[in-house]
Amino acid sequence: MIAKKMEPFLHNNSAIRTMFEEGNRLKKIYGDDKVFDFSLGNPNVPAPEAVKEAIVDIVKEEDPVTVHGYMSNAGFEDVREAIAQSLNRRFGTAFSAGNILMTVGAASGLNVVLKTILDPGDEVVVFAPYFLEYAAYIGNFDGKLVEVPPNAPEFQPDLGEFEKRLTAKTKAVIVNSPHNPTGVVYSEDTIKGIAEILERKQKEYGKEIYLISDEPYRELVYDGAQAPYLTKYYRNTFVGYSYSKSLSLPGERIGYVVVPDEMDDSETMFTTASIANRIIGSVNAPSLMQKVIGRCVDAAVDIAYYEKNRNALYNGLAECGFTCAKPQGAFYLFVKSPVEDEKEFCAAAKKYNILMVPGSSFACPGYVRLAYCVSYETIVNSLPAFRQLAEEYNLTRG
Ligand code: PLP
Repeated sequence: MIAKKMEPFLHNNSAIRTMFEEGNRLKKIYGDDKVFDFSLGNPNVPAPEAVKEAIVDIVKEEDPVTVHGYMSNAGFEDVREAIAQSLNRRFGTAFSAGNILMTVGAASGLNVVLKTILDPGDEVVVFAPYFLEYAAYIGNFDGKLVEVPPNAPEFQPDLGEFEKRLTAKTKAVIVNSPHNPTGVVYSEDTIKGIAEILERKQKEYGKEIYLISDEPYRELVYDGAQAPYLTKYYRNTFVGYSYSKSLSLPGERIGYVVVPDEMDDSETMFTTASIANRIIGSVNAPSLMQKVIGRCVDAAVDIAYYEKNRNALYNGLAECGFTCAKPQGAFYLFVKSPVEDEKEFCAAAKKYNILMVPGSSFACPGYVRLAYCVSYETIVNSLPAFRQLAEEYNLTRG
C-alpha cells in the first residue's frame, strides 16, 4: 500500500512528461522531422567543450580516491571558493566558500532550503504561473503553498496582490527569474518592490520571511537584459542555482545554494542546510561534477543559439496571429490560447504534430508553453503547421 500523500502524484503524473512520451510515439510514426515537440525544457545546445575536457583531465590527473570519495556535506571547499569568487566578479557580492553549499541541482537545492526553514503549516508564497514541482517540494515538508494570481499579459508580479497574501504564517517567498514558463525577467523595480514589502512585513510580524531565488536560467538572457542579484536587495535571501541549463548538464545534477552572511543567523542556517543536504538523502552533490564546475566556473553555453530560436519562433507565431509577450530570458514562450480551454487548443495542435504544454500545468490556464530548446530546423519546419493551426482558429492576418 503506497502512502496516502503519494496518491495524487500517482494519478496526476506530470503532463510535461506525458507530452514528451507522446512526442516519442509520434516520431516513430511520422519521423523525427515531422514532429514539432516543444514540450520539454531539456537543453539541446551541447555543454561547452571545456566541460568535456575538464571531465577527461580530472579523471586522468587527479587522485581517484578524492575525486570519487565522500567529502563534507557542503561540498569541496576549493570548488565553493571558486564559485564564490565568480559570483563576486560578476555581481559585486562578497561571498566566500562558507556561503556556498553544493547541491544535486536546483530541485534538490530548493528541497534543502525548504527542509531547513519550514515547520508544518508554514506558508510559502509563489507567483503564478510557476514550476509546478514547487507544490510537491513545499508539501514534502508539510508547508502550505499560497498562490499569487497571474499578472497577464506582462507577467511581472502584481505587488498589491502579493502583499495581500503575506500573513503571520508566511515563512518564505519563491521567485524565479528568468522565468519558467513565461521567459520573463523580473525588473529591478519588481525586485525592489518585493524586498520593500518583505522588510515591512518582517517588522510587522516580528519574524523572518525568507526570499528564495530559484535561478537555473540566470545566464539565459537576451537583448542585454540582466537579472538583478537578489541578495543585494534583501538580506534574508537564499539563492538556488543550477548548471542544468547554463552548462547544459541537467542529467549530471549539479548546482548550489547561497546562504549570504547578511542573513539572520547565517552560520546556523548554513550548517543546518548542510545537514538537510545529508538527511534528505543527497549526502553531497556529485563529486566529479563539483570538480568540473571548479574548472569551468565561468564557462557558458552558446546563448546566441537560443536567441536565434526565440526570434524565429516568436516572429513566426506573431505572423500567424498568435499573441505572446516577447520574453527576454530562459527558453520558453508563453502563448495565449485562442480558446478559453487551452487543453483543447493543445489537442488541436497535436493534429499538426505540434506538442506544447497547457498553462494549467503551471497554474495558469488559458496559455500554452513552448520550449524552444530545439533545433532551429524544427522551428522553421513547424511554422507552416502553426499557420494551419492559426487558420483553424481564424487568426491569420492574410
Ligand atoms: N526551477 C525551475 C523554474 C525549473 O524550470 C527547473 C527545471 O526545469 C528546476 C527548478 C529544476 O532544475 P534542476 O535540473 O537544476 O533540478
